[in-house]
Amino acid sequence: MRYCVVAKYGELALKGRNRPRFVARLRRNLRRRLGDGVAIEQRAGAFVLFPEGRPHGNEPSAGELTEGVRELLERARDVLGIAVLHPAVAVDKQPEAASAAAVGLLRDHQGSFAIRARRRDKRFPLSSRELAIVVGAAVQRELGLPVDLDNPGCTVHLEVDEREIFVFTERLRGRGGLPVGVSGRAVVLISGGIDSQVAAYRAMRRGLRCDFVHFSGEPFTGPESIYKAYANVRTLDRFQGGSRLWVVPFGRAQRMIAAAGAGRLQVMAQRRLMVRVASRLAERVGAAALVTGDALGQVASQTLANLAVVDDAAELPLLRPLLAFDKAEIIAQAEELGTFEVSRLPDEDCCQLFAHRQAETRARVEELRKLERAIDVEELAEGLVAQARELRPGSATATTAGQLEVAVGKQRETTVR
Ligand code: ATP
Ligand code: MG
Repeated sequence: MRYCVVAKYGELALKGRNRPRFVARLRRNLRRRLGDGVAIEQRAGAFVLFPEGRPHGNEPSAGELTEGVRELLERARDVLGIAVLHPAVAVDKQPEAASAAAVGLLRDHQGSFAIRARRRDKRFPLSSRELAIVVGAAVQRELGLPVDLDNPGCTVHLEVDEREIFVFTERLRGRGGLPVGVSGRAVVLISGGIDSQVAAYRAMRRGLRCDFVHFSGEPFTGPESIYKAYANVRTLDRFQGGSRLWVVPFGRAQRMIAAAGAGRLQVMAQRRLMVRVASRLAERVGAAALVTGDALGQVASQTLANLAVVDDAAELPLLRPLLAFDKAEIIAQAEELGTFEVSRLPDEDCCQLFAHRQAETRARVEELRKLERAIDVEELAEGLVAQARELRPGSATATTAGQLEVAVGKQRETTVR
């Protein structure tokens, strides 16, 4: 009898010949997330996670079960590609062992119950129904609880697998999606705002490993937006590990654009420069796409015409996972992810620096190209790439704002480029 977590992958099961690759990636991602103290074993359509070094009891109780595997469960829940998780007990393939486990799980339960059995191993001598009856009878005998198949107070599931029977009462939803990495790499343009963090999460959930670039208004703004980007990358790092964040001081470039007479095109010219810089950073790490938090029509810079003007400057496909999201949907997801709290803190957004009071909603590529020739945009982009500082938010231990400040400062000093 062993406590474990059964982590089932949903969509993966549909992926035909790519499947072995996806499963191998998922296993690596689980290992990275769970560390070494966990045995990861593969079963049909699932990984079973056994916390190592835990004493194997004779009989589980519901309370003990949650105690033993709760942390493991919480960590495994953030591994993308897993659709469903069960905290479970794995027992020998004997009806008596399954009965003992079911009795243990129901010991503190009051009210009716039901037993549901499934067999993945069809050679098991009892049918699913027979097994459920045997185990149900044992529970009635030991605990005196009433059976109610239509509306049970608690359902114990028995899954007869190749090597063991899994016994559980709980079904938790995983995050679904695809394992990070199966779709390649992308660079996310991350602001201090709300949207781009959610866009990053959506990209990761479709299998993209993400690195991040943030443009700060330095030297004309304070570092607040950097701290916010840093803290949010740190929050998102739990989905992949090893996230990079480049911080690019953007203020002087913005001033050059303004001095060249950008006027109503200021924000669009900045966006185009951002994607140029991001494209070059992407090349450095072998990323094949850029990701932004744009949503169609959300603000002036995100009209269809303006999005097309930004696309024109990108050297890689520019993905916009939130294109069709409403703001309320984005905020709800940001709250769920834990990025909203930080995103709503005040900062000086670099986009607002030098911004014209009336933004262009239908920019024309030709006009922007003309402006860019005047400032030699390629050289400008090259210079900004050279100034990018690389941070590793996932590996730092800072949590509070004050610690964060120190951590960012330290990483700046020790960045080896
Ligand atoms: P967000 O909450 O992501 O800031 P927003 O509604 O404020 O969204 P905009 O400011 O128009 O949107 O920015 C659109 C997108 O451009 C952002 O989602 C982000 O991908 C990118 N972006 C904007 N400002 C920056 C920045 N300072 N650094 C990096 N990327 C940025
Ligand atoms: Mg913004």
